[in-house]
Amino acid sequence: MVTPFIQFAPEDCAWCEGTGKYINQQCHVCRGNGSVLVAQPARKCPWCKGLGFDEKTQDRCKICDGAGWAHTYKPGISG
Ligand SMILES: [Zn+2]
Ligand SMILES: [Zn+2]
Repeated sequence: MVTPFIQFAPEDCAWCEGTGKYINQQCHVCRGNGSVLVAQPARKCPWCKGLGFDEKTQDRCKICDGAGWAHTYKPGISG
């Protein structure tokens, strides 16, 4: 079985708009980095269109977890 090698590159976090902060707290989406690792070529989340939240409900996007990108790197730790 061949695992395709995916490259990740940092892209601006949609949730905090790249500031690393969300309501004066560390952004939990990017963990304060201001950027998230996105599989290249980077594609915006098709669900929230890169906003990081649902336009109708204003809830954090469940697909990209607020990052605004499709296929972000996740370290495998939930919460
Ligand atoms: Zn962020
Ligand atoms: Zn999304």
